[in-house]
Amino acid sequence: MKRMVVLTVLVMIGWLSVTLAGSQAQAPGPTAAALQATKIEKVKDNFYIITGASDLYAFSGGNTAVFLTDAGAVLVDTKLPGWGPRIVELVKTVTSKPVTTIINTHSHNDHSGSNEFFPASVDSIVHENAKANMIKMPEFQGDKAKSLPKRTFKDKLSIGKGKDQIDLFYFGRGHTNGDTFIVFPALRIMHAGDMFPQKQLPLVDTMAGGSLLEFPQTLAKAVASIRNVDTVIPGHRQLATWDEFKEFAAFSKDFVDFARSSAKAKKTVAQAAAEYKVPSRYAGYVATIYPQLVTAEGDLQIAYDELKK
Ligand SMILES: [Zn+2]
Repeated sequence: MKRMVVLTVLVMIGWLSVTLAGSQAQAPGPTAAALQATKIEKVKDNFYIITGASDLYAFSGGNTAVFLTDAGAVLVDTKLPGWGPRIVELVKTVTSKPVTTIINTHSHNDHSGSNEFFPASVDSIVHENAKANMIKMPEFQGDKAKSLPKRTFKDKLSIGKGKDQIDLFYFGRGHTNGDTFIVFPALRIMHAGDMFPQKQLPLVDTMAGGSLLEFPQTLAKAVASIRNVDTVIPGHRQLATWDEFKEFAAFSKDFVDFARSSAKAKKTVAQAAAEYKVPSRYAGYVATIYPQLVTAEGDLQIAYDELKK
């Protein structure tokens, strides 16, 4: 969520000035409060998540998955820059094995920012488009280029065997042009990254190749192709079920259908945004995440721009 990081700073400054009137606004990064709020939680045997706190002041990045294999710990996503020590500290509370592999769901620095903390001996994998995006990011410039992921894949890649197997799937554009769905078949778990951040309108980074129009198609392919998953780790916020993931796919499709029909009826973005309401069948869904970050109007503008192409 690159936009999120930029906007988080803006929102955080405003938020702090309201709630902590009179005290100094803190720079973003691992504050003591944020470190404390970032915890490790067991999901199933040999599988944990290091949460991304929901409070803005404690934002550390996306959910980090920790999968314990015979060889060592596999991490999915590494949060913002500066969180490596806290990630390792929490991993050490559940295993004495070292981190051996890092997989990033996508390029954004709230999911890949602490890759650089880990030694060169750690294997690292992303989708080929995510790596192309990372090469352009400040987090991987100059000397830091050595922490770019070592391996990439195109459509599907499996690593490990038996209970340690991990399947990486790419189904097309959405949040960016390089989002991976990561499945742990023995445990029936999937990490969806920001293709399912939480129950909200899709967040699309067009600068990183994302597409709102293709977002639901990509989700539909994941729903149709991936089998035997019961637990889904969203990019941000709490665990979800497979049915909730399917629901998010339907919610996203309904929104894009709304955008298409609004454009066809020659409504302006502002008119369509004023008319949009989250359908009542989608309980718990919101149309706005932190003002300016994701809004119906913002997403509709992206859809209209794509429809013009
Ligand atoms: Zn993201």
